[in-house]
Amino acid sequence: MRILVAGGGLAGLVAALGSLESGAEVTLLEKGVRPGGSFVYSSGYIWSYRDLATFRREVPAGDAALQRLILRRLPPDLGWLEERGAPALARETGNPLTFGARFDPERVVASLVQRIAAAGGRILTNARLRILTLAGGRIAGAEVAQNGGERREPADAVILATGGFAASRELVRRYILRGPGELQLRAHPRSTGDGFRAALAAGALASPGLDGFYGRNLPAPPANFSPQEFVEVSQLYGRHAVALNAAGERYADEAADWSETALVRATARQPGLRAWYVLDAAALRRRVRDRTVEEMVAAALRAGGTVLRAESLEKLAERLAERGVPLKRALRTLGEYDAAVSAGRAAELSPPRSEPAAPVRVPPFMAVEVAPAITHTTGGLAVDAGCRVLRQADGRPLPGLYAAGVEAGGVSTGGYASGLASALVFGRVAAGSAVEDGKADLKR
Ligand SMILES: Cc1cc2nc3c(=O)[nH]c(=O)nc-3n(C[C@H](O)[C@H](O)[C@H](O)COP(=O)(O)OP(=O)(O)OC[C@H]3O[C@@H](n4cnc5c(N)ncnc54)[C@H](O)[C@@H]3O)c2cc1C
Repeated sequence: MRILVAGGGLAGLVAALGSLESGAEVTLLEKGVRPGGSFVYSSGYIWSYRDLATFRREVPAGDAALQRLILRRLPPDLGWLEERGAPALARETGNPLTFGARFDPERVVASLVQRIAAAGGRILTNARLRILTLAGGRIAGAEVAQNGGERREPADAVILATGGFAASRELVRRYILRGPGELQLRAHPRSTGDGFRAALAAGALASPGLDGFYGRNLPAPPANFSPQEFVEVSQLYGRHAVALNAAGERYADEAADWSETALVRATARQPGLRAWYVLDAAALRRRVRDRTVEEMVAAALRAGGTVLRAESLEKLAERLAERGVPLKRALRTLGEYDAAVSAGRAAELSPPRSEPAAPVRVPPFMAVEVAPAITHTTGGLAVDAGCRVLRQADGRPLPGLYAAGVEAGGVSTGGYASGLASALVFGRVAAGSAVEDGKADLKR
């Protein structure tokens, strides 16, 4: 049986090796010059919420069947990866809500690539899946562009692992922003929705939540940084700040969730897709995971981001006014926030403020300009619990088509879950389903 895997990120590499181990002939297409996808820029934590109740509480709108699949499969799949990829650097996540392990992405990618080649798999780089081909209502392969030419790659099954559409300005505007504007990209630039579009054109069904994305607020331009600095420059301290939009108003509960995904999504709906994180000196000393807020602000400064500093809130508001934020409105917002927090009434603010909620009182004061960045889309193709892509016509599996990783939408609709877990678990599940379905077809 011939399986074509499109995309050489973690999902595609795992799907390719899993398919080879089940006896299939495998060709892996990678659009870039080398495999690895966003995994190589990531922190390398592959994780899940610790139980279904926590998963449902954190991501209530997500697909429960896919969440169960991740919970059930992640422990054995982490073991599988350790045996084939590289030993885990740590077998914990540092977050009491989750379990998982941390890996060295470069080592894992190198090892998976080597094993795929050793098992006889073909890895084609600079090779882009363009169109899925159909025969008799089932997927029969794909048209591939490589080195300026185009050709047909026949296959009994195609596993799509092309990473969603975060890098497509057009699709991000259509589905996520629903209008003009631009999200910064906190990922490699090749996931432009090729697999998603090809699948829809072949009759696939899209998942719910196409407007969802996972990302971080980063220092706003003129800040400039390389992909290797994505983790370092991330401004992950909204919960210790007051977030103001260009009108000088609070626009979200800065501490609504532990990953600050809701705050980033709300920032994407603000005028000009910009915000200011206002902090005092006390906030700078707080820690978020392994870094202090001060270290994250310093990273923004190093990247050339805009960081305003003043000895009083009035002076800070004057500096913000030079950047177009209405002075009186900003001061009123900060005053209302301070009064409510000091009186223990943070939850009564509009929008409310969850804990931690500390007053902004200790000079010097700072304002860091941030802009929302997309790491990956969370909506994508609708799949069943075997990672079979479903048909738009009747919601049943589209024969021969599977999706893994970011491409498979719906797990984290409205919330946040590990993209690397979707890559690892769905990569293996898609491979298993493709091979099993192929065997079942032969018996018919
Ligand atoms: C800075 C950063 C930190 C992160 N930290 C974590 C973390 O600690 N934990 C976590 O769970 N997640 C993290 N993530 C997210 C995680 O890296 C991604 O969710 C995951 O790598 C996605 O894997 P994927 O294989 O589905 O897609 P991708 O990694 O996007 O891979 C898709 C691949 O498909 C290729 N491709 C695209 N189009 C085509 C085409 N037409 N034909 C052939 N190939 C194509 C691309 O070139 C790419 O190599 C982080 C991401 C970033 C950027």
